[in-house]
Amino acid sequence: MSAKKKPSPTYQLLDSSFDGDDYPLDKPEEACGVFGVLAPEREVAKLAYFGLYALQHRGQESAGIATLENDIIHVHKDMGLVSQVFKEETLQKLTGTLAVGHTRYSTTGSSHKANAQPAVLTTRLGNLALAHNGNLVNTLELRQTLEQRGCNFNTTTDSEMIAVAIAQAVDQGKDWLEAAASAFQLCSGAYSLVIGTPEGLMGVRDPNGVRPLVIGTLDDNPRRYVLASETCALDIIGADYLRDVEPGELVWITEEGLSSFHWAKEPQRKLCVFEMIYFARPDSLMHDETLYSYRVRLGQQLARESCVKADLVMGVPDSGIPAAIGFSQVSGIPYGEGLIKNRYVGRTFIQPTQHMRESGIKMKLNPLKDVLNGKRVIMVDDSIVRGTTSRKIVKALRDAGAKEVHMRISSPPVTHPCFYGIDTDNQSQLIAARNSVADICEQIGVDSLAYLSWKGMLEVTGEDPNSFCSACFTGDYPISIPDDIKRSKLMLEQVNA
Ligand code: SF4
Repeated sequence: MSAKKKPSPTYQLLDSSFDGDDYPLDKPEEACGVFGVLAPEREVAKLAYFGLYALQHRGQESAGIATLENDIIHVHKDMGLVSQVFKEETLQKLTGTLAVGHTRYSTTGSSHKANAQPAVLTTRLGNLALAHNGNLVNTLELRQTLEQRGCNFNTTTDSEMIAVAIAQAVDQGKDWLEAAASAFQLCSGAYSLVIGTPEGLMGVRDPNGVRPLVIGTLDDNPRRYVLASETCALDIIGADYLRDVEPGELVWITEEGLSSFHWAKEPQRKLCVFEMIYFARPDSLMHDETLYSYRVRLGQQLARESCVKADLVMGVPDSGIPAAIGFSQVSGIPYGEGLIKNRYVGRTFIQPTQHMRESGIKMKLNPLKDVLNGKRVIMVDDSIVRGTTSRKIVKALRDAGAKEVHMRISSPPVTHPCFYGIDTDNQSQLIAARNSVADICEQIGVDSLAYLSWKGMLEVTGEDPNSFCSACFTGDYPISIPDDIKRSKLMLEQVNA
């Protein structure tokens, strides 16, 4: 780094080297992964463990499993990755006929052990374990309603409020299904739920089905079912994908098999399109194909919309790679790897030494100098959120000898925050909310920058464009957001104008 250059303290680490420590933090953070299984003759805790292991990308702050057998419940949850939270001995103690599992990234409620899930409560009909993916938008109102009814809370999560609402309805005399349906009438926002009870396992999606939830079958047995956020969690335990839980549907799985209830009056599918672009694993199925295939088509469409002369197309590992392959296929420009990711480096809390930073050690992404030297490079990524990582990657490519760097993004500019369970920061932190494409181009130091069009992104889904939420690209929120919540994140826009 030039001795003359005196960056502000905030950017000192960012500019001093490309250590990748905020990679992939400069991405929207997924909220949670949920898993449930009913299989009395199997070690259900182990099945849940491996299901959560496959869903680790959806949340790395805490993990938990609750198992139930009649009215006995066993729970283990803690901060950390799934592999850190559970040991063989812990799993052996989690006996039961059904299991509910959760892996968490906090979007409502701070990050500490008390907020880890599943939320567990005792009711008139026995114990309840609930795992939630998504975010309610009427948390304050719901809490007030429940407090007026005399309910207490142990945590600050919206997930516990849903569990309390169900427990309260049970205690008033309702059965599990009636209680759940009445509790959901109080909830507004995004929720995919897996709920364990002594009588059976429930899978639920909100009326818009914002977050995914799939059903699998186990052991070719018509009475053994699995619920999971994504199909990759079925694959790992050898379960077969049956179908999605529908928006506004409750599936009730007992020893008798699976039954379905449509409790919402006007369900309207609004699946989070960002699940397809980035969050969900590329090997997970949505709309009967892997997301890898969809992401390749995003790249193909991107090349149709904004190709440029170049020698090499590369993707930012790992999430930009399928789109880069698609871009190469349509543009005819050779695909190659220009950055190698160190797969064994997790999120580190130990800062590199100053000497390491200054000597430019690349901890997580390392450029391939001989591949990049003298080349005009098209670098494809799935999104830009704050832009800090993009700037560092571009600098690393140039330092490695790239002659030109053209950035292509396989989604439109992220201009609005998410209120439905994804952490996309406040609007003021979103680089595209504050800057034109030309300004971003200059700030991240590329020769050219182009985003995929909103129309192109939705067209290549092959589905009805109205069946997706794409509010972080448009500000058109499908579930209305109370003004106080809007104010907390929409810093740049007049709320309730
Ligand atoms: S606002 Fe964006 S991230 Fe949030 S649910 Fe909608 S598409 Fe997904």
